[in-house]
Amino acid sequence: MMNDIISAVSTPFGKGGIAVVRISGEGSFALADKMFRPKRGKPLSERQGGRVVYGDILYDGRQIDDGCATLFRSPNSYTGEDTVEISCHGGILVTSKVYESTLLCGARPAEAGEFTRRAFTSGRMGLTQAEAVIDLIDAETEEAMRLAANGTSGILTREAAEMRERIVALLAEAYVLTDYPDEELSDLTTDKLKKGIEDIAASADRLLATYKTGHAVADGINTVICGRPNTGKSSLLNSLLGKERAIVTSIAGTTRDTIEEKCSLGRVTLNLCDTAGIHQSDDQVERMGIDRAREKLSEAELALAVFDISSPLTDDDRDIISGLDPHRTVVVLNKSDLAPALTPEDFADFPHVAVVSCSKMQGLDALRQTVEAMFIDGEIDYSRAVLTNARQHAALSNARRYLGSALEALEAGFGSDTAGLDLELAAGAVGELDGISVLTEVVDTIFARFCVGK
Ligand code: GDP
Repeated sequence: MMNDIISAVSTPFGKGGIAVVRISGEGSFALADKMFRPKRGKPLSERQGGRVVYGDILYDGRQIDDGCATLFRSPNSYTGEDTVEISCHGGILVTSKVYESTLLCGARPAEAGEFTRRAFTSGRMGLTQAEAVIDLIDAETEEAMRLAANGTSGILTREAAEMRERIVALLAEAYVLTDYPDEELSDLTTDKLKKGIEDIAASADRLLATYKTGHAVADGINTVICGRPNTGKSSLLNSLLGKERAIVTSIAGTTRDTIEEKCSLGRVTLNLCDTAGIHQSDDQVERMGIDRAREKLSEAELALAVFDISSPLTDDDRDIISGLDPHRTVVVLNKSDLAPALTPEDFADFPHVAVVSCSKMQGLDALRQTVEAMFIDGEIDYSRAVLTNARQHAALSNARRYLGSALEALEAGFGSDTAGLDLELAAGAVGELDGISVLTEVVDTIFARFCVGK
């Protein structure tokens, strides 16, 4: 359905000074003619792109508002297609009428992310750039915003493209070496091929190393707050949210037993889940909540396990401890304002322990430092590409694995054709990183560089 005309209200739902309804696709200008009448001069379809035109907005031929139409002619638009953005008054009813009017005139409702998807399909942006657009909109911390801006600028797209080109160039040479061993078409030797692959692998390793911090800042760490009832889990959640003043969303649709929130703890974004207290219970409904808490705990990247420092460990506490992975857990000894019955030494298997008092707001800095040390791996260099999500990391990890097996094949004395197969897969995986398929490019590059017909 590419090229059909899609429409959406591009501003948030609610009352505001102005709202923007955007349409995009071939024929958008003619469609806009039917529902937007300029106050002066020619209809929109007879005008150039890059213009803003004031006029009346119509619904079924009747004027319902006045506003501005901003015109973008293909390819100079966000989607790469003809696009019209209609700014109307930002009332809830008037905005939905303007939107409905575009549908009456022949547009169809856009799907989530469809404008950006069209930008990707039309080659206006790479896949990682498109992902960064979403991250930029979602960003709630300064660091996450800067990181997303780094992605939208296309640094990762360019770095992936450059890496792919380097692999494809090696690949082309490797195949020529295989197919025409006696002809002096290429001065590539196995050692040169190895060196070339090693260099690319080093670039991939450098980029892969950015993922840990990129993920913690942009994606966020899936975090569960767990502990038996009354240890202070909710107090910890409130302290984290209140202290950082960075509540970003209350995610709707969670169960009655878990609350999900996003917050920042220093530079780390936490996707927080405050679960039902884990304890023995005969109540069936309560048990369901507890089971869900255990399930969340097993999926989490980080558990903030809360214990009451003022009371000795109970059987419920021990039960919780037995289900924790020490390396994905921070033991939070809460209520440090009271006389202690526990010490960090009671948790000798756990490398990360923080002593806090949620009611006195003490120890939270130490908790922040502990969590940062677990998930932040060095400073982010915003002038270079950073991987921010699991998809990107998986694609590049695959590429790195194929580069590794290409090297192994050469070390083991296999020919350049065997290494070539791995290089082809590596190029494909790097292509996937930014949404590009590679095989035709390999062929193109071979033909471009060598006269195969000879
Ligand atoms: P939850 O059941 O684990 O979510 O625990 P709550 O956050 O509801 O806290 C249980 C009780 O412990 C409440 O009465 C809190 O006021 C109290 N509490 C929480 N944190 C502290 C603390 O740091 N010091 C003291 N003295 N009491 C606390």
